Amino acid sequence: SNLTIAIVGRPNVGKSTIFNRVVGDRISIVQDEPGVTRDRIYAQGEWLGKQLNVIDTGGIEFNDQDFMTQIRLQAEIAMEEADVIIMMTNVRDGVTKTDSQIASMLRKTDKPVVLAVNKVDNPEQRAEIYDFYSLGLGDPFPISGSHGLGIGDILEEVFKLA
Ligand code: GDP
Ligand code: MG
Repeated sequence: SNLTIAIVGRPNVGKSTIFNRVVGDRISIVQDEPGVTRDRIYAQGEWLGKQLNVIDTGGIEFNDQDFMTQIRLQAEIAMEEADVIIMMTNVRDGVTKTDSQIASMLRKTDKPVVLAVNKVDNPEQRAEIYDFYSLGLGDPFPISGSHGLGIGDILEEVFKLA
């Protein structure tokens, strides 16, 4: 009955950084095969005493699939398994074509989606998050994984929508 959150987004936006911030060292499943270091994908976290499961869909690999197919399959897993989806983008790259493609997939789900704009490392960059309204996923939430900013605000929204 714990809340399950899935983080979706194209490579390099900062999904794993946020995942690690939220779950800390409470990684419940780490799969290592000989010669293969697999990403840590599923873990449990806690926020203000509330338990949550987090899925870093970027760590789920589908061999021999092209880039967009991999991302589409990751988004499908999120839509299937999560109670709330966090779509992650970043302010450095702005709104990319891939972001728009992911957003259009996520707009079709009935599940709540929270839009995170990562790498907002300083307050001046907050003015740039308004471009992300164009993704049609509601209010963009500025966060900084490397500085640990905005994480509480986005988790509050996640629990509000759950
Ligand atoms: P993923 O591919 O979406 O999982 O992205 P990662 O979490 O691996 O991060 C990609 C790169 O962005 C790494 O070099 C991170 O150190 C960097 N990064 C992540 N979060 C932030 C942030 O809030 N600010 C800045 N400036 N860099 C970040
Ligand atoms: Mg990653």
